[in-house]
Amino acid sequence: MAYIRPSKPGINDSWGGHRRRRPPSVEPGIDYNCFIGDDVVAPADGVVHEVKRSTGGASGRAIMLRTGRDWHRGLHLSEILVEPGQRVRQGQLIARSGASARGSEHGVGQHLHWSFWFDRGNAVPTPGLTPTDDFEVFVANPSLTTSTTSEEDPLFTEQDRALLLQIKNELLNTKAGVWTGGKVRIDGIVQDFRYGALPIVAHNQKLIAKQAGQIAALQEIIDQLTSVQNVSIDMGPVRDAAERGTREANAGLLNDVIVEADPDQDPDIDPPLEGGEDPGLGG
Ligand SMILES: [Zn+2]
Repeated sequence: MAYIRPSKPGINDSWGGHRRRRPPSVEPGIDYNCFIGDDVVAPADGVVHEVKRSTGGASGRAIMLRTGRDWHRGLHLSEILVEPGQRVRQGQLIARSGASARGSEHGVGQHLHWSFWFDRGNAVPTPGLTPTDDFEVFVANPSLTTSTTSEEDPLFTEQDRALLLQIKNELLNTKAGVWTGGKVRIDGIVQDFRYGALPIVAHNQKLIAKQAGQIAALQEIIDQLTSVQNVSIDMGPVRDAAERGTREANAGLLNDVIVEADPDQDPDIDPPLEGGEDPGLGG
């Protein structure tokens, strides 16, 4: 099922904008330009996982939804119209936007903050700790949603989709700054990735080896990502790493390459949370 936005489309701050804040938001999401009392609807069929009716914490009134294998959280609500465990249909009115936070109905400026976690399955995300995904990418590109729809590019096969999920999961596990780059330690050497996802893939020989012969599919994914992200990616390192991975896989020489965040330099490492506190979300 392709996603619809939970509110009207105007955006005050993007997912990337949240990440570029100093300090970065620990739960990057989309800030939709909503007033107090605007409709908030379910972006797809799903189940209400949790509601928080108190205005406390950085989140204020909040709702957490599960749609298929994906998870969502809407913050700063003025009213919540559903209960935990309730099934909702796409487009169903579930809440009204607001400005609630820090124990007040006006703890932040009025807007709807929408957090999104892609393909987490039964692993309930921990807000403030589990890295989020950019919901607008999924709204803009229906082929990236979990289930097939007839509107998808026919070239984008189940195999491609599985490959994309695999890449995304590998990257999420690295906490390395998937779309906007960051510093990543590979084989003990800290490297700076300005382009984000693909250079990290390019240096992960284990993953690349698994993808030997699937560069066409990877190219398709890159095309779809860059069409939404409006960034350019140098494919040279990807091809080189793919060839190297193929050679090494064929020769039985494949090493495990561990991609890990550098705790001193990676800006995406989350600050420690205080026990029992609602994690700070940066509005
Ligand atoms: Zn926000």
